[in-house]
Amino acid sequence: MNSGYPPFHWFEVEAVLKQPSSFTKPLMPKPKRKPRDCPWCGQPTRWVWWSSSPKSWESLCGRAGWIRVCEPCRYSSDISEEGFIMS
Ligand SMILES: [Zn+2]
Repeated sequence: MNSGYPPFHWFEVEAVLKQPSSFTKPLMPKPKRKPRDCPWCGQPTRWVWWSSSPKSWESLCGRAGWIRVCEPCRYSSDISEEGFIMS
């Protein structure tokens, strides 16, 4: 698999959406403002805490941050938009 750099492949986002909450515990406060609408369909998006795989953190290339997600479109925003954490 290649790097965890954004933008993500949808399967990476989906993996996070399916992870047990212990893996996705946010390390940064959720942005207070409302997420911008999806650029593809114009519907509201939602904030999702994204974190790369536990393996990537072990090898010191982990990344985590808030992204905006539109599930029907499989759209996700860039992790760097809201700032992110690197191991
Ligand atoms: Zn959309």
